[in-house]
Amino acid sequence: MDFIVLTIFPEMFVPFIEYGIVRKAVEQKNISVKAVNIREFAEGRHRVTDDRPYGGGCGMVMKPEPVAYAIKAAKKENQDLKTILLTPQGKTFNQNIAREFALFNGLIFVCGRYEGVDERICHDFIDYEISIGDYVLTGGDTAAMVIIDAVTRLIPGVLGGAESAQKDSFSDNLLEHAHYTRPRDFQDSGVPDVLLSGNHKEIEKWRHETSLIRTFLKRPDLLKNRQLSSPEVEILRRWCIDIEKIIRSQSLHGADTLSGSQ
Ligand code: SAM
Repeated sequence: MDFIVLTIFPEMFVPFIEYGIVRKAVEQKNISVKAVNIREFAEGRHRVTDDRPYGGGCGMVMKPEPVAYAIKAAKKENQDLKTILLTPQGKTFNQNIAREFALFNGLIFVCGRYEGVDERICHDFIDYEISIGDYVLTGGDTAAMVIIDAVTRLIPGVLGGAESAQKDSFSDNLLEHAHYTRPRDFQDSGVPDVLLSGNHKEIEKWRHETSLIRTFLKRPDLLKNRQLSSPEVEILRRWCIDIEKIIRSQSLHGADTLSGSQ
């Protein structure tokens, strides 16, 4: 997969591709990452890429021509590339979108700066407007890195078997189970016995159950989109009964405590 990043700070991507799985993916030619300076497509002696906003107000706006020329040049290399504008106003990036993007031949990222990119670029040159969360960054570059990272690990062949993405959080609308490694005792806290048992069937069962429970506790919204199996419904029902018991005993304590403190 080819990633082409249109930015006014291409140097930011030099260290980005020098570490970890992204580096490995580049070396194995699973991906290529090319950061292109939008300034190269700006006209005039000073190659200006921004200008004052029509209508007044603070901040600068990225001029449309250099961005448009940069997109056209990137598409000349590969017509199939999809163009993504990084913007806090876009659809919020998630694992499903990462999976969708991982199927494409390549992606062009348009990284905004200042107040953003001239609106006419959004209308005519962009396939997807993507945000990485409800906050405002100073530029789209770090957002592009987040997306490249998440998409890269989903490309077949990038992760080895030991690092498979299949069981990662958000696969099938579940969070992944807890992980433990040595030492066996750490700060008076041990490792669940089942993980030391060597019984792979029981370990799988425990992992699935804890994955379901932690999704229920941390991200119940995900379970709404999951087609739960009957054993899963049973696991959640058992948990609800236990929670109910705790709440009932607590409310009894609560009544005692209240009367005791008066
Ligand atoms: N004035 C814009 C607004 O309020 O919608 C924010 C511009 S922001 C300071 C500059 C650039 O950073 C944006 O053009 C975009 O490329 C990038 N950016 C900021 N927040 C982002 C986010 N949450 N997700 C993706 N890109 C973001």
